[in-house]
Amino acid sequence: MSGILAFDIGGTKIASGVVQLPSDDSGRPKITLQDEIPTRPSEGGDKVRERLICFAASQLESARLDGLEIEGIGIAAAGVPDSATGEIISATDILPGWRGQQLYAAFAEITDLPVYMVGDVIAHGIGEAHYGAGRGSRKLLSIGVGTGIGGAIIIDGDPYLGAHGVAGHAGHMTSPLGQGFLCSCGSAEGHIEPVASGQGLANLYNRRTGRQLVSSGAQVAQLAQEGDKLATSTLSDSAEALGACIGGMANLIDPDGIVISGSVTKAGPVWWNALQKGFSHSALPLLSRILLVDGNLGGQAPLIGAAVAAHRHIAHQ
Ligand SMILES: [Zn+2]
Repeated sequence: MSGILAFDIGGTKIASGVVQLPSDDSGRPKITLQDEIPTRPSEGGDKVRERLICFAASQLESARLDGLEIEGIGIAAAGVPDSATGEIISATDILPGWRGQQLYAAFAEITDLPVYMVGDVIAHGIGEAHYGAGRGSRKLLSIGVGTGIGGAIIIDGDPYLGAHGVAGHAGHMTSPLGQGFLCSCGSAEGHIEPVASGQGLANLYNRRTGRQLVSSGAQVAQLAQEGDKLATSTLSDSAEALGACIGGMANLIDPDGIVISGSVTKAGPVWWNALQKGFSHSALPLLSRILLVDGNLGGQAPLIGAAVAAHRHIAHQ
């Protein structure tokens, strides 16, 4: 049985594993040779690329020793990658020097295997659409709410990327709640991310208290559980505003499933109920009954999605 050697390149770590996809749609992918290395982004994009290639060479050797046949390499990369050329065309300050890296050329130095790369948020959505909470959806909207907010639109198993590769950037939908909060994209004109991501929850709570009391969404959720009314209303207002944005996205793309993943989804029922309420009020009547569901592949979703994307790309070649 052959597998895809997959990589998930994030701001703190690069995870890898050999993903064996099941032969029928009801099975589950099997991941072996799971390993990870630190990204160390402060060393710059060139060093991150070099360390990635060393890691890949070592993983290929381990697969060979284990007798695992590798069909190709799938990459879920932070930033906005160009799947056709293997270039990172955009990246934030979380990975300095990452923009402009040529990953297909770098992999070609160590292997002749086909390599295919998609964005990490896109890979997450592909994973959930094929083998996770979005299984069975033909038009899936996948939203990740963690350090930032991202999203992916998966149509019949493949991502819709748009003309510039940025389709699905859900964090930059506008919301009155975000007015005056600086977004990671540089705008302060009311994007949802700076008030609804994990850091966003902390921003909103600190702004309302007028003090720097918390530094993460998890702390706001903890305070809400302890009975802090301002923390509870912050969670609720933030989730309702995000739900309204997701409703707007749904009105535009008409999905048959919506999966929500990421660390903020652990904030509890106050957050989830407000998210669903904001969604239902904003979505058109035909869509307002769609249930927003929790992703179920967790941290393995990007590796699985990268493997699916690479496998489908190789099959279509
Ligand atoms: Zn923004």
